[in-house]
Amino acid sequence: MSSTCVFLHAHPDDESFLTAGTMARLAAEGHRVVLVVATDGEAGLADVPAGAELGARRRRETLASATALGCARVEFLGYRDSGSDGAVANSFSTTPVEQAAERIAALLVEERADLVTSYDPAGGYGHPDHVQLHHVGALAAQIAGTPLLLEATVDRDALLLTMRIAAMFRLLPPELTPDLLTNSYSPRSAITHRVRVGRYAVAKRASMAAHCTQSAGGDGVRTLAALLRLPRPVFRWALGTEWYVRRAV
Ligand SMILES: [Zn+2]
Repeated sequence: MSSTCVFLHAHPDDESFLTAGTMARLAAEGHRVVLVVATDGEAGLADVPAGAELGARRRRETLASATALGCARVEFLGYRDSGSDGAVANSFSTTPVEQAAERIAALLVEERADLVTSYDPAGGYGHPDHVQLHHVGALAAQIAGTPLLLEATVDRDALLLTMRIAAMFRLLPPELTPDLLTNSYSPRSAITHRVRVGRYAVAKRASMAAHCTQSAGGDGVRTLAALLRLPRPVFRWALGTEWYVRRAV
C-alpha cells in the first residue's frame, strides 16, 4: 500500500545529509514523498554573500535535490534563517512553536500524511532552527493526528567512526574534532529505526551535489564538501544507513 511521507527540514541541504536515502528509497518503492523546508537558508555560509540572492539560489538547489530524490512536492515555509548563533530577529527559531506547528499540521492534514519526520531533541548539532524544528514537528504531528513521527538523527557512535576514517584520508578540516559531538545527535541505544539506503547512494550523492553553494567557498566547516570528497565506496559505506528515533504522538 502506498503511503504519504512528509519530511520536515530546517534549511536547504539538511535533507541531503539526514534523510535523502530514505526519501529516495520510499519514492522508488512507490510512496508519495513530500519535502517541507522551513527557511531558505539565506544566512548560511556560501560562496555568495548571505541574503535574498543566496536564499533564491538555495531554493533552486533544493528543487534539484528533490528531483534527484523523486519527491512529489516541495513546500518552502519562508521563515527567516536564524543563522548558527540564532542572532536574527523574527527568524524561524523565534517564531511561536504553535504558529509554525499549525501551518505544518494543515499541510499534514491536506496530504493525509502517514509519516512525518523531524529532528532529535538536540537539533542534531544544536542549531537553533533545528531545535525549533524538533518542537514544531512534535506539535504539528499531534495537531494533525499523524500516526507516525520519526525524528531524524545520526548514530553518534557511527559518526565518530566515520570521522576517524575521514581524518585518516585527511578529509576533515582540523577544527572538526570528535569532542564536538559529545552532546550531538543520539546515542546508539536511543535509535529505533535504521534504514538501509546504500542502494540509493547515487541519488543521495546527487542530492548533496545539487547544493552547490554549500560545497564551495566560505570559510567555515564544509561538511558537505568533505563528504563529497569521500571515495565512492567509503561514501556508500559511511552514508549507507539513516537513523530515526520514534516518538509517541
Ligand atoms: Zn540546517
